[in-house]
Amino acid sequence: MASKVDLEFAREVATSEEFNAWACMNCGVCTAVCPLGIALMPRKLFRHTVLGLKDEVLEQRDAIFQCLLCRLCQENCTADVHIAENVRFLRSYIDREVFGLDADPAERKDQYALAHR
Ligand code: SF4
Ligand code: SF4
Repeated sequence: MASKVDLEFAREVATSEEFNAWACMNCGVCTAVCPLGIALMPRKLFRHTVLGLKDEVLEQRDAIFQCLLCRLCQENCTADVHIAENVRFLRSYIDREVFGLDADPAERKDQYALAHR
């Protein structure tokens, strides 16, 4: 089945101040140094993200949440891609779009407090 571009997702990625993978050269260094050996992280995942391939990104939900945010990949990235921030951006997106949680941690805390009164 052909991959489908989700325009809304692509627009959100393109206008985000957090997400930056435009300079990625697909060199593979990040994948090589990742202690979890997450094969698709981050280069393939970010490629799918910048292309707006939302379904492919959501399929990798487990890997996105497994990432340790250790920044080993980021420190070795010659293109200065903000890998950990990009992963955080995708987690927030999934929290909001898939789990229906608000991305704002302060607001989420309020919602939690209200629900547990
Ligand atoms: S190390 Fe940086 S430039 Fe190379 S594939 Fe990873 S994110 Fe892209
Ligand atoms: S930040 Fe995530 S993707 Fe990067 S090396 Fe650490 S675990 Fe791997």
